[in-house]
Amino acid sequence: MTLFREAVVDLGAIAENYRVLRERVGVPALAVVKADAYGHGAVPVAKTLEAAGADALGTADLDEALALRAAGIAAPILCWLHGPDTDFAPAVANRIEVAVSSVEQLERLARAARAAAASDVPVHVKIDTGLSRNGLAPELATELFARAAALESERVLRVRGLMTHVSNTSPEDDRAALELFAQLTTAARDAGLDPELLHAAATAAALRIPDSRLTMVRLGIGLYGLTPFDDESSAELGIRPAMTLRAQVAAVRRVPAGAGVSYGYTHRTPRPTTLALIPLGYADGIPRQASGYATVAIGGVTCRNVGRIAMDQFVVDVGDADVRVGDEAVLFGDASAGVPSADDWAAAASTINYEIVTRIGDRVPRTWIGA
Ligand SMILES: *Cc1c(COP(=O)(O)O)cnc(C)c1O
Repeated sequence: MTLFREAVVDLGAIAENYRVLRERVGVPALAVVKADAYGHGAVPVAKTLEAAGADALGTADLDEALALRAAGIAAPILCWLHGPDTDFAPAVANRIEVAVSSVEQLERLARAARAAAASDVPVHVKIDTGLSRNGLAPELATELFARAAALESERVLRVRGLMTHVSNTSPEDDRAALELFAQLTTAARDAGLDPELLHAAATAAALRIPDSRLTMVRLGIGLYGLTPFDDESSAELGIRPAMTLRAQVAAVRRVPAGAGVSYGYTHRTPRPTTLALIPLGYADGIPRQASGYATVAIGGVTCRNVGRIAMDQFVVDVGDADVRVGDEAVLFGDASAGVPSADDWAAAASTINYEIVTRIGDRVPRTWIGA
């Protein structure tokens, strides 16, 4: 039975996607569960991935990683985006690995290690090789590596990994970033470090640039069964979308030709028709930008949204179909089941599937199946 509003998350699909992708890349794979596991529910997804044998889990923030430990996740966890006031003491206390992007962060982690009387605390160094975002600027690498080597010889920290992130701009741009990463890896070794984990690839690079796999990949979007590519679908990649967003039709109305629909009457019905009300809106993460373009499946019929998507609701034109209050309306799910996909919504809103699933709001209960 469909709830009033509901995001159904198939944990079995996530476990299977992990196995399929892990097998394809052939190297250890860290499973990325940041941002509430891309909107799918961090704790149930992390438990599923741990049970599926994930080599490690990854989050952006330390707080996300701590929440997983508090929920009983034992797998290695890495986090890589820190604020100026982030206290690394809980990371040391909870065996959470930190990737640092500056000498200042390295020193902060070293202080936390010393305060806890911990030794050889593992650290990854995140290096920026082109994106101009998070990560150490390459020209500062020599300084950081020297400092890290000194902390290693004092048995405070141990550089377990070097990481970077590529831009997916073009094969040439990604090759240049990987080449720079290889040079910096050599520089780290010359400084006396011996990082066992070298990781650069997210889902897109892991699938298309075999040389980017190094000793580990970091898989995010693919685990959720969504494609990072414009020109290759989930089905073509052999993965299955895990989230189905659905709701009960909240009202049905027969209207004559010329009826205005929603704010601004951006749509007037061209002929007598039946309109169905879907109780999800931009407060629930439904992109208002998709107004007039998005489609929904009701009882196997694909219906187009008409009029503006509002905060809590939007309208679809079901024509002469026999739609009733309480019928299930599927906004997106697995396209091979004949329903629209998150990719369709992304296209309708001029965005990417990542944004469609991560923005589903707290008012939409998650139901987990397939555990
Ligand atoms: C989010 C993220 C990933 C996962 O990216 P996908 O494209 O979802 O596979 C990998 N690495 C880092 C550093 C990230 O921030």
